[in-house]
Amino acid sequence: MLMNNTLKKLLDLQNLDKEIIEIQREKNNVIKKLRDEQICYQQAADDQFSKKENKNQMEIDKKKLELDVEDAELKIKHLEGNQKLVKKNDAYQALSKEIKAAQEAKVKAEEDLANHIQQTEENSVDLEKGKTQVDEIKKDLLKKADEVKVQLLEIQGKSKRYKLIRKDVVKEINDKYISAYNNLYEKRAPKIIVQANNSMCGGCHISLPAQIIADIMSLNDGDALVTCKNCGRILYIENNEALAG
Ligand SMILES: [Zn+2]
Repeated sequence: MLMNNTLKKLLDLQNLDKEIIEIQREKNNVIKKLRDEQICYQQAADDQFSKKENKNQMEIDKKKLELDVEDAELKIKHLEGNQKLVKKNDAYQALSKEIKAAQEAKVKAEEDLANHIQQTEENSVDLEKGKTQVDEIKKDLLKKADEVKVQLLEIQGKSKRYKLIRKDVVKEINDKYISAYNNLYEKRAPKIIVQANNSMCGGCHISLPAQIIADIMSLNDGDALVTCKNCGRILYIENNEALAG
């Protein structure tokens, strides 16, 4: 093995951090999925609320249309009454015209009312359908929220375990390397410790000088580390094949 103990421990640390990042990503995904479902439910519920409001408005409009029909009927009766009283032919003709217009207005008002009633019935079916859908979405959402609760508990447990292991690994590494690792972590996570294959830095892919390779090869003793002069990452060589390849 072409690596010293510090390097091995740092690699363990890097692998743990990769797992911890993965766990965090998993947690975020689970939460995001549930949030998306909540948004879907909210949209459906808002839609349903608008439909209900529309229904109330349509009931008000219906009363108004019924009054229009009544008004038209009254107007016709009134004009017919007047017509019985007039003596002159031209006045009679004029009232006939007015009655005809009032009758047409009544027919129109009755049509409007009939159309409105039909629309109300259609909306009512739609409203019922919507209610069933919203109820189903809500049921699904509550079920998923329960599942997510369990998932998050598992993730939390896993995260705790990894963080405990991480603490133990950190304890075994010299503080100065931990702070070097942490500095690199901020800039380069998750690739902090990289292989130097084919005399190239596995992080930034720059060609490494022969001296750097020689330094890595002699890492068997002590806790010294070799870093890439370009990106600052910690370098290692897994085995001779990798070096030869
Ligand atoms: Zn590099």
